[in-house]
Amino acid sequence: MTVAPLRLRLDTAALTANWRALDALSGSAACGAAIKANGYGLGAVEVAERLARAGCRDFFVATWGEAERLAGLGFDVAVLHGVRDEDMAAAMRGIARPVLNTAAQITRWRDAGGGRCDVMVDTGMNRLGVAVAEVCDGLLDGLAIDTLMSHLACADEDDAMNARQAAAFRALAGRTAARRLSLANSAGIALGADYAFDLTRPGLALYGGVPRDDMAGAVRQVVTPEAQILQRRTLRAGDSIGYNALFTASVPTEVAILNIGYADGYWRGFSNTGCARVGAAALPVIGRVSMDLTAISVAAAPELGEGDWVALDYALPAAAAAAGMSQYEVLTGLGARFERDWT
Ligand SMILES: *Cc1c(COP(=O)(O)O)cnc(C)c1O
Repeated sequence: MTVAPLRLRLDTAALTANWRALDALSGSAACGAAIKANGYGLGAVEVAERLARAGCRDFFVATWGEAERLAGLGFDVAVLHGVRDEDMAAAMRGIARPVLNTAAQITRWRDAGGGRCDVMVDTGMNRLGVAVAEVCDGLLDGLAIDTLMSHLACADEDDAMNARQAAAFRALAGRTAARRLSLANSAGIALGADYAFDLTRPGLALYGGVPRDDMAGAVRQVVTPEAQILQRRTLRAGDSIGYNALFTASVPTEVAILNIGYADGYWRGFSNTGCARVGAAALPVIGRVSMDLTAISVAAAPELGEGDWVALDYALPAAAAAAGMSQYEVLTGLGARFERDWT
């Protein structure tokens, strides 16, 4: 077996501390975990195992393929995209609950004699979910609903839509047989007790994302990419480096070439702006990030050689700003070539 030249350091203590912080902010509501998109790129099984040990009981994925990878491990999983005909075999095996989103999905589930389910109600985002009016007209009557949920469109901003959505959702309390109500994602948890209902569904903040500035103190960084040095060289004054010669040395510069690039999710936006570290030494990215390679100045740590490892700055708010992307995109873009090492 070969050892990958790049790895993600994944911090179990930070992940579980983030969940505990979000659980505390959720007040009397239970706190679940969105682990869709392979646990936002970290590894859904590994994330679920760690959060379950911390006390998390409710997990959310997008598709039945994702649910199948968690099947048999004892997690309580809900599938946010509901059930298509193609999903019914998996759904009827009981590996997870569907979150039913449309009248057709509800009919499909009823006709098959499906049991406990969740239902998504649209309170204004106009993405997934049945309409509030359909619920009031009795669309859900007789369904064995575990969790009735809705989703906030603007929780990461102070927008009047948040209160409108919460009020529309609250009006449905007692209108269905649902055991629980659930509205808040990570950002929604920061909006306070009016948004917590019975169960919260954070994703981003579990993994070190900060959806609102007021959550910054509660969230720890979980993911740190590390890469191995493939080659060392010295630039002479006037030498340039990398595609399109975006960096030219003004003085002789010690350089290391790293085994990481934009195909790994180390985006082109880190060109001339990213930074690697070894101990206290800051090693700035110089030139353009390539598909598989990135150059750094090792002026601050010239003893580094081929085969040595460096860590890359990857606090999500700053990394997203540098990449010109959302924190969600930066996380879920972390590639398949990383070895994922949990500590
Ligand atoms: C992805 C998702 C979440 C988690 O959202 P974050 O912003 O990552 O906390 C919660 N609920 C639903 C329906 C989602 O699709």
